[in-house]
Parts: sequence; C-alpha cells; structure tokens
Amino acid sequence: MAQYEINHINNNSVPIALTKLDNILNWATSNSLWAMTYGLACCAIEMMASGASRYDFDRFGTIFRASPRQSDVMIVAGTVTKKHAEFVRRLYDQMPEPKWVISMGSCANTGGMFNTYATVQGVDRIIPVDIYLPGCAPRPETLQYAVMVLRQKIRSKKAINEPIKKRLI
Ligand code: SF4
Repeated sequence: MAQYEINHINNNSVPIALTKLDNILNWATSNSLWAMTYGLACCAIEMMASGASRYDFDRFGTIFRASPRQSDVMIVAGTVTKKHAEFVRRLYDQMPEPKWVISMGSCANTGGMFNTYATVQGVDRIIPVDIYLPGCAPRPETLQYAVMVLRQKIRSKKAINEPIKKRLI
C-alpha cells in the first residue's frame, strides 16, 4: 500500500467528500451534453467530422441526436435561410430546458459572405446563442473547444435557476 493512502478501516473512519449540490448537478449536466445536429451547409461537414473516429466527440460525453426532445445543445452549422428560419425556431422550442446553442461558422454567426435578401444575418436573430464559433469553416478541434467552453460556462452557473425567458420573437 502506498504511504500516502489512508486506511479508513484501521483508522475507524469513513471517507467523506463535501461539495455543493450545484457542483454535482452542473458536473453531470456539463459532461453529458447531447447535441442536436443542425447541419445546413459546408460547416456541417466539419461538425460530422467531429463525431467521427478521428476526433471522437463521444469521449466528451457529447453524442449527436436526431431529435430535439433528446438534445441539450443545438449546433447550428451553416447558412440559415429566411425560408428555413421558422424550422430552426420550432426545433429550438421543442428542446427541453436547460438548453444551449452553439453557432458554428461565419454564416450562422452573421450571414457570412451571403449578405442577401434570402439569408438570415445571424442565427441569434431567431434563437439565443451561447457560444459563437468563428471561421469558414471552423475545424473539428474548434468545435470541440467550443463545447469545452460551454461546459465551463455551465459549471459556473447555478444548477437550478428561475426559468429564463429566452424567446426573442
Ligand atoms: S461559414 Fe463557410 S464553411 Fe460554413 S457554411 Fe458558411 S460558407 Fe460554408
């Protein structure tokens, strides 16, 4: 037995770890972020690569889901057209609370190079965004970093909050 190890049986004691309920709930939530796939254009290829064997999102506890009802975080990857905006909002509304949004790539952030009548100039005009991921297209490593930043953000908040009014429209 290593010298630094405490023998609780001989010492007639029990190991105790004290923490706050907030920390446990946030730790559990942040380590099991299920992502709703929302691939809309070329950025979606990089998002798919994040889930494949080379980058392996599963090891972070982030698993892609095809249903909004099973998802915690929506990753909007690509150009959002005005015709499609209604469906982005509807799927966001179907996700259970608490929920988060990552805007992936310049097109989702600001409309990118498509400053046209048909393109939404930033997905934050439709749904509230927690993390903006710059680039055209951002690489899978940066999406993984965005998820890690989101995890830090979740851990720094209170686990049980008053419901936040997130409706923008
Ligand atoms: S940001 Fe670039 S890579 Fe991503 S959807 Fe727009 S044009 Fe495609």
